[in-house]
Amino acid sequence: MPLMRSWVESANAADTDFPLNNLPCGVFSRAGEDPRCGVAIGDMILDVAAMEEAGLLKLADDPVLDVPFWNEVMDLGPQAWARLRILLLGFLTEGSEVKSQVEPFLVPQADCTLHMPFLVSEYTDFYAGRHHAFNVGSMFRDPANALPPNWLHIPIGYNGRASSVVVSGQNVRRPLGQLKPPGADAPVFGPSQRFDFELEMGAVVGKSSEGMVSVAQADEMIFGYVILNDWSARDIQAWEYQPLGPFQAKATATTISPWIVMKAALEPFRTTTPERDVPLLPYLKEPGPMLYDIALEVTLAPEGKAETIIARTNYAEMYYSAPQQLAHHTSCGCPMNVGDLLGSGTISGPAKDSRGSLLELSWGGKEPLTLATGDQRSFIADGDSIVMRGRCQGDGYRIGFGDCRGKVVAAHPVPDWAR
Ligand code: CA
Repeated sequence: MPLMRSWVESANAADTDFPLNNLPCGVFSRAGEDPRCGVAIGDMILDVAAMEEAGLLKLADDPVLDVPFWNEVMDLGPQAWARLRILLLGFLTEGSEVKSQVEPFLVPQADCTLHMPFLVSEYTDFYAGRHHAFNVGSMFRDPANALPPNWLHIPIGYNGRASSVVVSGQNVRRPLGQLKPPGADAPVFGPSQRFDFELEMGAVVGKSSEGMVSVAQADEMIFGYVILNDWSARDIQAWEYQPLGPFQAKATATTISPWIVMKAALEPFRTTTPERDVPLLPYLKEPGPMLYDIALEVTLAPEGKAETIIARTNYAEMYYSAPQQLAHHTSCGCPMNVGDLLGSGTISGPAKDSRGSLLELSWGGKEPLTLATGDQRSFIADGDSIVMRGRCQGDGYRIGFGDCRGKVVAAHPVPDWAR
């Protein structure tokens, strides 16, 4: 599919993340105003909340855009999502007859602050990147038995914390926790010394379920995708994770990119999961391509200094797709809700510079990275900003998600009573 041209000129630039083909959903505010729903187009935002209020955009009998989150639109279901896209294309396409009515509802992105685009009901994080699982297994256990015996059969996951999901741009405070440094006889309590990022995609569930759903039904339940940084304290994780998995190591914060890219925009970029080493059980088999070709990169910038790209990879590296993960999630009878967020698991490729975490990039701290600024890093230092970006490259256009950015600030001091 080629670029779809818009009368919003900036949306036709080859280097915009937000051409007419994209139309992602976010929540924005201008100085002194309350947050509201908007759709990105070029370097502008279409104020769809105001358009609904003005009677120009009607998705349901009652207003659904009069709240600063997209959950009510999601709750209308896939047919309404498709209708929204058709309406938006009609408003913004080159030569649109309603241009003069729509134009007053455009706001420059540069004047806006972006907020959480949806209310996160619950957050589940998976472990579905084969190269990541192999690398971590090699470091923590043994290269000969790097993949756990269940890994090729089950999309492994754990229940995370919805309360700690934040939008791009929010600072992340270095966590305190219980650590047991190598060789120490007893644990200590203090700031994590091995704070890390994990490059992931997040799937946003837009339709609830009761009981088990198929992979095809699960795909229909997904409203869209965001880039996701699952911040991880490796030293807290190493000490706490057996036998129940990560807990405090992953509960500090999870940052998501500000725009939910709807599935329809990603449709031309669908691709298959890799060849299976062992056949999956029938309930996990995919009826068609369920992954997306999304080029991803991670940059690190020390405080006040330039970014260095430290990893480049692709979402297509995943062994399990989000619909497979979602189908698996429901298989025990777990009800899923509108606003549930599923993290894909760290997306690492086979090459050294395609690894999606510092744990892997520095090989557990043994091989520090040298940045373009000359600084060296094994893990994140206070003041460092981590930015993740993702793009699908189309024919003369690209689909982007907006930056997924977070700056790590120093830990709170350990209180006297905790010493
Ligand atoms: Ca993770």
